[in-house]
Amino acid sequence: MNIEILNTGSELLLGRVLNTHQQWLCRQMADLGYVVERQVAVPDTALDIVTGVKEALSRSDLVIATGGLGPTSDDRTRDLVAEMLGRKLNLDTSIVQGIQAMFARRNRPLPPGTEVQAMVPEGALVLVNDFGTAPGLAIQVEAGRFRAKMSWLIMLPGPPRELRPMFTSQVVPLLRREFPLQDAFVCRTLKTTGIGESWVEEKIDGPLKHLTTAGLELGYCARIGEVDVRFVGHGSGGRTQVEEAEATVRALIGNHVFGIDDDQLEQVVVQLLSRKQKKLAFAESCTGGFIANRITNVSGASEVFLAGLVTYSNEAKEQFLGVQAATIAAHGAVSEPTAREMAEGARNRTGADYAISVTGIAGPSGGTDDKPVGTVFIALATPEGTQVKKMLNAFDRETFKYVTSQQGLEMLRQALLASRQ
Ligand code: ATP
Repeated sequence: MNIEILNTGSELLLGRVLNTHQQWLCRQMADLGYVVERQVAVPDTALDIVTGVKEALSRSDLVIATGGLGPTSDDRTRDLVAEMLGRKLNLDTSIVQGIQAMFARRNRPLPPGTEVQAMVPEGALVLVNDFGTAPGLAIQVEAGRFRAKMSWLIMLPGPPRELRPMFTSQVVPLLRREFPLQDAFVCRTLKTTGIGESWVEEKIDGPLKHLTTAGLELGYCARIGEVDVRFVGHGSGGRTQVEEAEATVRALIGNHVFGIDDDQLEQVVVQLLSRKQKKLAFAESCTGGFIANRITNVSGASEVFLAGLVTYSNEAKEQFLGVQAATIAAHGAVSEPTAREMAEGARNRTGADYAISVTGIAGPSGGTDDKPVGTVFIALATPEGTQVKKMLNAFDRETFKYVTSQQGLEMLRQALLASRQ
């Protein structure tokens, strides 16, 4: 089965809007067991839309097009598709009434152009829009028009808050009905950290050879501070292959695997702390509260997170964490002893079981021969003692913060796994 996604919108090509539909729709489709083969984005001009839709329909069983269904003059997908397919547009009064009712509920006057959105090409199924005005449309394109077989063209509105619920509630049942799966596939991602992409490959590629030769797809995705290992298994033996591959990878580099699929390191850390009933605090300098921010993005963080101190100046490190002025004078604010005293100070002063501290040089200025830009000391104070790591994260400031936070959280995860308490 060939599936293609066609996103319309000049704003996508001008880099004004991130094309999140591509990622979201592909992910939904993959989770349902359908593989999207091609993603195309085209500007709002008539020629581009018509060419894009025609090309997609000439090679695909299913085309999901997004955008261009609204009331403004640049929303032309509906009209162009109707004309291209030789279908008359008819006014659907129930859509008009739905839009009128929505505006009445909001106590707002009906804007001009409403009726355009209620024009439905002959034979099209209407996908009701519960979160906006323009309905989606699903059209069966007859065999022989663009290719020998018939295809489906599904048109969805541009705004994500409208497209997503419409896809889930109305497109998924249509897919299940029109494209029942014979060859379902299983997709699993193992999320690793603290190990580079080439190292992961070096360690697991050989031991998985017999599975990849037998049809298992193996992929790597290097992200900032993480490497994903992805398995896709097809057909009746697919699940067993994926399970065997996962077990093999866990046996080889299991200490680096922190989760699967959508797991995030901060979630895993919060879960571990919560299971062990332990409390956490931070003393952050160069990350400016970023690690605390990541932890507080996790629902349930209040159970485990006590406090985060952003101690940027030397005075703040001394006043709020009890770092000795002499330590800073002798070794500098970016040093192993300072990081150690910061973490221990945060742990003692907040009463937390674990405290992470970071002190470093994010750059681009401030580096020296001794301590180049990117140098960072990360300390973890625990009930068993304090450990400090020196890292070199020579990136832009934002990436520096992310990578450093990842390393700090990973130190904590490892300590929690190793601790018997
Ligand atoms: P509207 O009624 O708002 O005009 P529409 O169906 O005509 O809806 P567009 O005008 O193409 O859709 O897009 C509306 C908004 O939806 C855009 O401004 C943009 O913010 C968002 N949007 C459109 N396409 C995408 C996309 N591919 N990824 C993410 N957001 C998108």
